[in-house]
Amino acid sequence: MIKFCNLYSGSSGNSTYIETDNSKILIDAGVSCQKISKALSQIGVELDEINAILVTHEHIDHTKGLTTITKKFNTPVYATSKTWTQMSDLKINPNSVNYFSAGETFQIGDIAIHPFSIPHDAVDPCAFSIMNESKKITVATDIGHVEDHLIEEMVGSDILLIESNYDRDTLLCGSYPYFLKKRIASDFGHLSNEAAAKLVKKLYENGVTKFVLGHLSKENNFPELAYQTVLNELTSSSSKVPFQLSVANREYIDDILEISN
Ligand SMILES: [Zn+2]
Ligand SMILES: [Zn+2]
Repeated sequence: MIKFCNLYSGSSGNSTYIETDNSKILIDAGVSCQKISKALSQIGVELDEINAILVTHEHIDHTKGLTTITKKFNTPVYATSKTWTQMSDLKINPNSVNYFSAGETFQIGDIAIHPFSIPHDAVDPCAFSIMNESKKITVATDIGHVEDHLIEEMVGSDILLIESNYDRDTLLCGSYPYFLKKRIASDFGHLSNEAAAKLVKKLYENGVTKFVLGHLSKENNFPELAYQTVLNELTSSSSKVPFQLSVANREYIDDILEISN
């Protein structure tokens, strides 16, 4: 059985909790130690029980809590060597430093972790497929554009957390300065609702049926709009297999999703 629970998701901070029979991990710790601890306590988990934190990339909305968490709990943190170099300012507890490389599957307890590269303006950004026995969960945010290899990595997921960061019109008409709008919409920025919708439809037609939309922008998106944009694509598909679609909450914990082996 794998349990999946989104603690925080969005441009103000990301953290996802995954639990199997004998392992408990976080993907990213992009809010304070206190906020992560509070969210975990709502599902009966203590921070000192966490076996590992996987880091997708160095941006602060993915790394903010690492310094305090590792000082308090010595939690092992896994990142690529380039990402560790970029995180040197954070003064993460040296005892917590562990490495992985994109494309090389590694093991934590009964969880196999497959990191894969994504296009984003960080030094070595990765998404993760988490596998336990026959089950697979993929967490993929901060994606500038969809490349074919990403689709191959995501096929076969029992749950996919996928970025649906911004609505194109809301971004263009919004208050962000031009350079920032350009960065977000670039091939190494974030995924729009429209791009996420097309990707989700393609994956649905390749057998993926559970989707969680995440990393929504506070300024340039609305949960209802992201949901509706993706739903429209899904319902336009010729496939009529039942699907599940939800939007991860930005500021509070989502329901736990469970899949049995
Ligand atoms: Zn980022
Ligand atoms: Zn981010």
